[in-house]
Amino acid sequence: MPIATRAFAATAADAPLSPYSFDRRDPGPDDVAIEIKYCGVCHSDLHVAKNDLGNSRYPIVVGHEIAGVVTAVGANVSRFKEGDRVGVGCMVDSCRTCEACREGLEQYCVPGMTQTYGSPDPKGKEVGQAITQGGYSDRITVDQNYVLSIPDSIPLDAAAPLLCAGITTYSPLKTWGVGPGSKVAVIGLGGLGHMAVKLAAAMGAEVTVLSTSDRKKADAERMGAKHFLINSDKAAMQAAAEKFNLIINTVSATHEISSHINLLARDGTMVMLGLSTEGMPVFAVPLLWRRRRVAGSLIGGIRETQEMLDFCAEHGVACEIEVIAPDQINEAYQRMEKSDVRYRFVIDMGRFDKAA
Ligand SMILES: [Zn+2]
Ligand SMILES: [Zn+2]
Repeated sequence: MPIATRAFAATAADAPLSPYSFDRRDPGPDDVAIEIKYCGVCHSDLHVAKNDLGNSRYPIVVGHEIAGVVTAVGANVSRFKEGDRVGVGCMVDSCRTCEACREGLEQYCVPGMTQTYGSPDPKGKEVGQAITQGGYSDRITVDQNYVLSIPDSIPLDAAAPLLCAGITTYSPLKTWGVGPGSKVAVIGLGGLGHMAVKLAAAMGAEVTVLSTSDRKKADAERMGAKHFLINSDKAAMQAAAEKFNLIINTVSATHEISSHINLLARDGTMVMLGLSTEGMPVFAVPLLWRRRRVAGSLIGGIRETQEMLDFCAEHGVACEIEVIAPDQINEAYQRMEKSDVRYRFVIDMGRFDKAA
């Protein structure tokens, strides 16, 4: 029996999200059926709903920061049972055979991961879905290999954004070996940035936040930042030159990055996490003079995502959220476009009834 699902969907680039009903597949032998309790609202959702990348197909249910409870499992599923607290992030499948998948780096799957929304969905045919549909909905069915366990100590609402914002920042901090003694700068204190601050501080790093104003200074310090820099303050930027081992750059808008590269110590790396669609000049001289690097990083693999969730439980790290009802999503998008959220909207699917 297909699973009746309530959702909010985008039906066109210029239309507000609206109530939408569809069916999820009944769990196959390797599937986990999940009742979604909460879904975080990521900037990528907004880009896809509004077709900013030019390849959106409609109707589409976006959302890839999913936290919920298992309602049923297939015959081959041993790691999950009914009632377990689980999460689903940005992907629901991958080829499983390429070099990246074999290394547990499914996000870099060579033929391409199956994203949680908007990817072709062969398994959706039986219920009339050509593409995968995401988390702004109250049910989802996912292969067990792409389902994460959410530790009991993290509330489900504050856990949801860890599935994208959390892993997106955790993975580069681990890749570049952040630990006690590391000096880490985070550019931009939004959904991604605030997680980067908390995670880097929990790893033992000395964290500095760079922002365009001091509006969020007190928040940054409460989250674990030791220093706060306004990036238009030339004297302060000069004083911070060559200081950082790693800069986590979360800004997606086009911005000037060269002056930030000067903040890197020798062998330091700036990691770009923002999905910017325009080029930004990088000059060779400041790079070669101190063997600096500019790099990118995309979410994290399934194994590393579980490691991140367990790390957050161990260190008491969670996302700071504003919980909304499903029918407040359009208002939330308007506020996100003005960066008016501290620090992630999370949709409470338990408030669907009021949405009708
Ligand atoms: Zn995301
Ligand atoms: Zn693969």
